[in-house]
Amino acid sequence: MKAAILEHYSAPLVVREVEPLALGPHDVLVDVGASGVCHSDLSAQRGQYPFELPIVIGHEGAGTVAEVGDAVTLVRPGDKVIASFIPACGRCWQCLRDRSHLCEAGRALGGVPHVSIDGAPRKSMAGLGTMAQQMTVHESSVVKVETDLPFEQLALIGCGVTTGVGSALWAAGVVPGSTVAVFGCGGVGLSTLQGAVIAGAARVIAVDLAPAKLAMARQLGATDIVDAGAGDPVEQIRALTAGRGVDFTFEVVGRPDTMRQAYDAACRGGTVTFVGAMASDLVLPLPANDLHSSAKRLIGSAYGSAQVRRHMPQLVALAQTGRLDLASMVSATVPLEKVNDAFEAIESGEVVRTVLVP
Ligand SMILES: [Zn+2]
Ligand SMILES: [Zn+2]
Repeated sequence: MKAAILEHYSAPLVVREVEPLALGPHDVLVDVGASGVCHSDLSAQRGQYPFELPIVIGHEGAGTVAEVGDAVTLVRPGDKVIASFIPACGRCWQCLRDRSHLCEAGRALGGVPHVSIDGAPRKSMAGLGTMAQQMTVHESSVVKVETDLPFEQLALIGCGVTTGVGSALWAAGVVPGSTVAVFGCGGVGLSTLQGAVIAGAARVIAVDLAPAKLAMARQLGATDIVDAGAGDPVEQIRALTAGRGVDFTFEVVGRPDTMRQAYDAACRGGTVTFVGAMASDLVLPLPANDLHSSAKRLIGSAYGSAQVRRHMPQLVALAQTGRLDLASMVSATVPLEKVNDAFEAIESGEVVRTVLVP
């Protein structure tokens, strides 16, 4: 089967034949239906995560179960599944505390080689490797869903949509009637914005530099638009909220300066949620006294605090009834062979999501 391989950092990906290894007792072979191209894939290509190369890339996907190992109980052949880029073992200390987004077995379950490249067993990104015709994964890494939504849309739930919608619904807990500002309107930010709308926020302010992204934010339910290039976004948000700032801010860019803006744009007593990923050596300076005197809550959001087995089917149901718009977030669907063009498109910032089909 064909897969997109990262052979060298910062070099084009190579689409070529690899051989799936024999299934282990808890492994599942999935015919990939679609794979989204997420910004983290670009970061991976640039060497931000230390991988043993070569590796099959991709961590946002959905497909159909083709074959299962002897001990698999969670899915069976024919099931439609969404891949979870953090496995949810259901048994570890964190999973038993309703924190499967921090599953302690994740690293071990995701670190097993599942393909042979040039005769050597190799790992796949996040234990998945969605940019391929097939992927072998641990059963903890797939979530069964019952729906007729197309794979192009279901794939997005694997990473961006769950991360974004979840940050509003399950990490921050946006409440009806509240005011919200979302910094950064890429795939995850637009999902955060949709999560705030679903939660019943009265006012959802979208902040970005790109006019196309702000227009998309408006289409997906933003009540106000802040062009961060047209003056200090914090001042613009305060001007919209009687000088107070908003109840909930979300930083979905992944930069210390926008994190600080998100902190400053929250009202006293407001909640600041950090969603964006960035290099691990960056630090965030904050006004120390204001941290207690403003009584703001700071929240880190990983995978939207989603409990994937419970929440991914809920996201599918929201999409099925039109309350969550996935179709608008798929900018283009292209064949797997065009993976390098898709990476260039995400770098240009002009697309929400390009989806690859094998
Ligand atoms: Zn991702
Ligand atoms: Zn676990």
